[in-house]
Amino acid sequence: MYVGADIGGTRLRVGDGAENSSVLIAGLTADQIVGHIRDFCRGNAVQAIGVGIPGTLDKERRVILNTPNLHTLNGYNLADALEAATGARAFLENDTVALMISDADLLGLDANGTLLGIYIGTGLGSAVFIGGKPYAGKNGIGPEIGHVPLLGKREPCGCGNFGCAEAYVSGSFLERLRARKYPDTEIAEIFGTMSAQELDDYTEALAVTIAGAVQILDPDAVILGGGVAAMKGFPFAEVIRKVKEHTMKPYPSENLTVLQSPVGGDIPAGVRGAALLAKRGYEQL
Ligand SMILES: [Zn+2]
Repeated sequence: MYVGADIGGTRLRVGDGAENSSVLIAGLTADQIVGHIRDFCRGNAVQAIGVGIPGTLDKERRVILNTPNLHTLNGYNLADALEAATGARAFLENDTVALMISDADLLGLDANGTLLGIYIGTGLGSAVFIGGKPYAGKNGIGPEIGHVPLLGKREPCGCGNFGCAEAYVSGSFLERLRARKYPDTEIAEIFGTMSAQELDDYTEALAVTIAGAVQILDPDAVILGGGVAAMKGFPFAEVIRKVKEHTMKPYPSENLTVLQSPVGGDIPAGVRGAALLAKRGYEQL
């Protein structure tokens, strides 16, 4: 049996594909997080546990280097702690990677292909799979496509850079726009409220960001997801049109595959992806 855990901004979710458990995460210590996962596993023959982490990991995927919203976990070797507490093997990944493992599986994509995932939520998360493996890079942080700077843009970003794509396409950007120009509009209605120029600027910023990554990777498929991409009126078709406009002809432009992340289901995608991560990791031992 494989168990998946998703450490989110507000909740810790644990599941095995059938049962789920969820607990508020605010105030939990690292030991309490381990204890909650251990309690879920108790009494079951668990081979491996996968965990999605909302932050950066060391290159070996054992130690949490930095989670912006959960400082209690910074510098913590969660993999060692889980293995000691449960006797199962533990596999950690960035939460975007876990989400993408679930999406690629649900969409029936070739697990050994080159896949690009773009997830627009509060920020802009991204992941890249090359030959079936998530790309991690020199520092283990992986591709942070949301922090690619846009030409001529100066908006400061929490990452220490400025002009990052994230500052022009994320949920935080939409919320700032709403508060500044449309204070009487619900955020859920923002895409139907923005001016034509604002919508054009938005799709352009998102499309050039995706197009840059497509040019580097020539991916088998791009998965576009996250809370913002699931919002009413999200200009999915226009974003794809512009990505194709901004990429080389004939290829990768002409046969580019962009798929919307599957939404819904009984098992949260982050938990499902983390359980699949555990299964993949265990089978590759
Ligand atoms: Zn940034």
